[in-house]
Amino acid sequence: MHWIEVEGYRLPALLAGHPALELCNTWAGWDEPTDPRREWLHDFDHLAVWAGHAGLLDPTVVPRLRAVAREQHVAAHEVLTEVRSLRTALHDVLLDPADGAAFDVVAAQAQRAAGAAVLEADPDGVARWAPPPGIGPALPLLACATAAADLLTSPARTQVRACPGEECGWLFVDPRGRRRWCTMAVCGNRAKVRTYASRR
Ligand SMILES: [Zn+2]
Repeated sequence: MHWIEVEGYRLPALLAGHPALELCNTWAGWDEPTDPRREWLHDFDHLAVWAGHAGLLDPTVVPRLRAVAREQHVAAHEVLTEVRSLRTALHDVLLDPADGAAFDVVAAQAQRAAGAAVLEADPDGVARWAPPPGIGPALPLLACATAAADLLTSPARTQVRACPGEECGWLFVDPRGRRRWCTMAVCGNRAKVRTYASRR
């Protein structure tokens, strides 16, 4: 499993090609969907730092978000739980488009995020959908749900693959249909070593 350290936190390496898939990859191996040792998002601080690192939140917002979450720790913990549920549902619907229950969970969160977004214009009048003003614990959840909706409505949706590596299952975008592993250096190499060992 590839990881890096960000602000003293161990976080999964970004290698999926879309932030919604990076969210799925904050679970370290989907062959075990319930083992708590597979969790990378241990608490709200991990979630906030990860969201900044993954490009889902403006990194300058992260320290203030963490301070707010310390004051609103019950709400922050609920957000963490909802992000984890969104992650599982997104993972499930990406691998099984017929999973209507999983789709409904993602759609409900996406709807909520869309409802909270505000249309902002820059001085040239070019507008964009932005997160709601102010900093509250829900920010990372809204950002994750927006990213999930973006992926599900983009052509990349049909190019999502899961790494077949042992204890992996990380997701990535494979536009050319030629990528097999999340990383050649980790899962690809492990498989090579195993093949070599079994030949001897
Ligand atoms: Zn892998």
